[in-house]
Amino acid sequence: MATYNENKYESMKKYREKHRDEYLEGRRKYSKLHYENHKEEKRKKSLEYYHNTKNLKGSESLRLSPSSILCECEGHYTMKNKSQHLKTKKHQQYLEKIQTSTILHSSESGSSSTMIA
Ligand SMILES: [Zn+2]
Repeated sequence: MATYNENKYESMKKYREKHRDEYLEGRRKYSKLHYENHKEEKRKKSLEYYHNTKNLKGSESLRLSPSSILCECEGHYTMKNKSQHLKTKKHQQYLEKIQTSTILHSSESGSSSTMIA
C-alpha cells in the first residue's frame, strides 16, 4: 500500500524534476510573449487611467476652489483664503528665499563695485 504511494510520489517527483526546467522555460517564454502581446494594450490602459484620474483631479480641484489663484510661491489660494495663505509655511519660506537671494545679490554687486572703485 505504502510502497505504491511512495513510488507514485517518487515518480512524480522525478517527472517534475525532469520537466521543471522545460516548464520554467515555457513559462518564461509564455510570459514574455504575453507581455509582448499585451504591452501596447497595457500602455493604452495605463494612459487612459492616467488621463481619467488627471481629469478627475482637475475637475475636483476646480469644484473645490472655483477661483483658485496660483501664487508666486507655487501654492494656490482663493480670494477668500489669501490672507490665510500668506501666513502658510510654504509662502513664508518662499518670501524668505526671495529675500535672502535679493540680499545676497545686492551685497555681491555692491562689493564688486567697491572693488572696481
Ligand atoms: Zn504663496
